[in-house]
Amino acid sequence: MQPPDPLDEWETPPFDPTERDGYLFGRGVSDNKGNLMARLQAIEAYRATMGDLPLRVRVLYEGEEESGSAHLAAFVERFGDRLKADGCIWEAGYKDAAGRPTISCGLKGIAYVQLRVRAASKDAHSSLATIVPNPAWRLVWALASLKNERDEITIDGFMDRVRPPTAAELQALERLPFDEPGMLRIHGIKRFVRGLSGVELKTKHFFEPTCTICGIVSGYTGAGSKTVLPAVASAKIDFRLVPDLTPETVTTLLRAHLDGRGFGDVEIVPGHGEPPSRWPTDSITARAAVDACRATYGTEPVVYPLLAGSGPMAQVCDKLGIPAAGFGSGNAASANHAPNENIAIVDYFDHIRAFGRFLHAFAGRPVA
Ligand SMILES: [Zn+2]
Repeated sequence: MQPPDPLDEWETPPFDPTERDGYLFGRGVSDNKGNLMARLQAIEAYRATMGDLPLRVRVLYEGEEESGSAHLAAFVERFGDRLKADGCIWEAGYKDAAGRPTISCGLKGIAYVQLRVRAASKDAHSSLATIVPNPAWRLVWALASLKNERDEITIDGFMDRVRPPTAAELQALERLPFDEPGMLRIHGIKRFVRGLSGVELKTKHFFEPTCTICGIVSGYTGAGSKTVLPAVASAKIDFRLVPDLTPETVTTLLRAHLDGRGFGDVEIVPGHGEPPSRWPTDSITARAAVDACRATYGTEPVVYPLLAGSGPMAQVCDKLGIPAAGFGSGNAASANHAPNENIAIVDYFDHIRAFGRFLHAFAGRPVA
């Protein structure tokens, strides 16, 4: 799961789902318990109102997605025959900042690592900083070598592995609606990274990897002052991966990069990892999702090449050859992984309707 910290920023307790102003607040309501429940209720509602389902549905729920799905590959290996399908609706989906329904046809991969530096055997009086190395500075210098101030990843060989978008993908990006003012407002920022906009912004968001410092810890950070020279420093980092980067290449390149710059003392503690997964935006799954969303929301859904997040899509869909697409009950301000995670109640009910229509459309029946 994603820890609910910082707890004091939640307006209501994270594990007490609370309805307020037409929204439901709680950890996981958007990512992703809301969608999982809505789909079961869509199947129930379809049976209650339309009769037998027009196709066979297999529901695969696993509880380790947020920590890397360590056991899913073995499960798929063992039960692959029973999991084969013509299409897969992935767990996540959101309305964009302008309130348009979106459909995503893939996921970025992820590589999660911890960088750790130990200098001395124990903390020391900071007057000794003249002669005893400081692991916090070692870590900061190492981190500074991973990315420059233009937000370009500078790990040796890393960007060479990034497959550029095709001409057709770039053309699709030109047409792809993306509510820039809405995103600036929701996130309370004045400009996007590098000051980008338009097709460059969309290309960076959908087709570039990331290198994100998720947290840094060293020394004393409590109230008041403490003049201490810390003995250890560590940072947690995630990389969101696009083809052809894999978690294995990232750790190998990162190790070689740090060693090549004299940072042999920076230890890499590998965390979870998943490769990226991409599916055509005109697959049978995506087309049925478009029909279902158009009929439900009364507007043309926005079809993203992928969701910029990660999940075990490759472990299931690539492994079994199942074209995937995702849509769901979240919104652009759902605050996934953050305090006050929420979904609009109306979006929850709409997702039930959209998923029921998807089942109908995927079976080749006309939706209305
Ligand atoms: Zn998540």
